[in-house]
Amino acid sequence: MKNIFLITLLLTSITVSYSQEKENEMIKKITKTEKEWKETLTAQQYFVLRQKGTDAPSESGYTSTFEKGTYHCAACDLQLFKSNSKFESHCGWPSFDDAIKGTVEYVLDKTHGMIRTEIICASCGSHLGHVFDDGPKETTGKRYCVNTTSIKFVKQE
Ligand SMILES: [Zn+2]
Repeated sequence: MKNIFLITLLLTSITVSYSQEKENEMIKKITKTEKEWKETLTAQQYFVLRQKGTDAPSESGYTSTFEKGTYHCAACDLQLFKSNSKFESHCGWPSFDDAIKGTVEYVLDKTHGMIRTEIICASCGSHLGHVFDDGPKETTGKRYCVNTTSIKFVKQE
């Protein structure tokens, strides 16, 4: 009985906090315990997505993938980026000049002696990477620097 009360209380507080974010009303919120995430994700996925880790820079992974399709959150499968937003940044991580509207949330990150904007999945809150202002000037000027581990590519048929 006590557990049911606690869960109800938790769900009520989540509903209240998220209903204030009008922009993401269409995105279904996913909440899992860290134990549940640990069971469903690989060790590297858990490190990057849930513990805000970073993949080593590399030209492998999705850095050099330029096929047509969409990139989904590796934790909850929400569509985050379209391949036509992807560009070659030569920074060692997959880079996009924009995210699909409302799918990404922005969090001020003051760790590691820097002031950066962290990007997280709007559905499950998992860490994706950071967004910088050195993207292509002819489009948005933004560089969404995303970990290969945080996303999965779904090829357009
Ligand atoms: Zn997600």
